Amino acid sequence: MSSTLPLVIVGGGLAGALAAVRLAERRPELPLLLVDAGKTIGGNHTWSFFDSDVPAGSQALVASLRPVRWPRHRVRFPGRERELAVAYNSIAAPALDALVRARLPQSALRLGARAARITAEGIELADGEWIAARGVIDARGPHGAMPGLDLGWQKFVGIEFEAAAPEPDCATVMDACLPQIDGYRFVYVLPFGPDRVLVEDTYYSDAPDLDGDEVARRVRALAAERGLGGYELRRETGVLPILIGGDPQRFWPAEDPVARLGLAGGFFHATTGYSFSLALRLADELSMLEGDFTGAELARWTRERFLRHWRETRYFRMLNRMLFRAARPEERWRVFAHFYRLPPQRIARFYAGQLTALDRMRILSGRPPVSIGAALKALLG
Ligand SMILES: Cc1cc2nc3c(=O)[nH]c(=O)nc-3n(C[C@H](O)[C@H](O)[C@H](O)COP(=O)(O)OP(=O)(O)OC[C@H]3O[C@@H](n4cnc5c(N)ncnc54)[C@H](O)[C@@H]3O)c2cc1C
Repeated sequence: MSSTLPLVIVGGGLAGALAAVRLAERRPELPLLLVDAGKTIGGNHTWSFFDSDVPAGSQALVASLRPVRWPRHRVRFPGRERELAVAYNSIAAPALDALVRARLPQSALRLGARAARITAEGIELADGEWIAARGVIDARGPHGAMPGLDLGWQKFVGIEFEAAAPEPDCATVMDACLPQIDGYRFVYVLPFGPDRVLVEDTYYSDAPDLDGDEVARRVRALAAERGLGGYELRRETGVLPILIGGDPQRFWPAEDPVARLGLAGGFFHATTGYSFSLALRLADELSMLEGDFTGAELARWTRERFLRHWRETRYFRMLNRMLFRAARPEERWRVFAHFYRLPPQRIARFYAGQLTALDRMRILSGRPPVSIGAALKALLG
């Protein structure tokens, strides 16, 4: 290795932390520095995922994050309810924080440090300190606009209540039997423990604006209707990008010298905005790379990986165009209800972003949930 300078990862959130853990495990000789503006790793998050989202080879890493696990999950739409025997899981940020602290030497962590400027050769902190690096990865999450991307939004407010859910072994990932406001709306219920339940009110909307207090009021009402209200332990808010189209070269120009991971690099599921599965995959692939991890090498590899991800998600963008452009907002739930007629393994491959050619055909088969004319217009336009 040509340099004793560290590889600096800016952002100890999901993507940056998983990459750091993998690198520490597979490349222990590589000096690392994980820099985050917060005092802990991962912030105030829970990350949920299906068993089938976890790539082969990442199971042990995920198990060490001690997920809460529901062996089955449920979806509900007007006139259709279904329970699927595919396990759903959730990990809380403190588990990621604990794993990073256990696997990285303390000298590899720089918390409470905000990067004000990032280059391929080093970063400048907000207090003016310069940290020289062999290479830098920007994993600062969804900061600022995503130039060049045509986006819809999945936005939500979740409140964790001190309450007992009637079915502690079943997660409700979509219950759309409620008034459809501001696009496709559903409630999401995760019974975290015997007396803790997360209730989330979610919208697939055209605009990212979210009136957090108003939606929190709706969450309380939904929880009370379901007998799940109680003392409020925690609140979380998300506004996640859903990819409809755009120009990947504008989002990530070839001349950008800095490597990216996580949402900063467009590494998210095009239809859900979720990134757990991809963060595991990229951490794994990055840690297997050969070379010196210089800024230029990392920028080239992560950008090429993003362009591959872009090509692989073409089909998902097409589906998203149908969802956002062909279905009227109050009718969007029909697209998901139609999707949920499929066999569980096909649904699981959809969420894992691992569709086969047959899956792609089958998803579009059957009586379409939107008018053919509107669908064609959305696809061509
Ligand atoms: C409330 C919420 C719930 C979500 N739930 C799920 C879910 O259940 N499953 C799922 O797969 N996805 C979920 N997502 C979507 C997505 O996977 C997460 O946003 C994920 O955390 C993104 O990972 P990331 O590493 O790109 O960014 P983040 O995890 O947000 O990490 C970015 C990190 O960078 C740090 N940072 C930012 N700027 C600077 C700076 N200038 N200097 C230093 N540090 C900086 C931040 O403090 C933060 O720790 C959720 C998103 C939100 C907002």
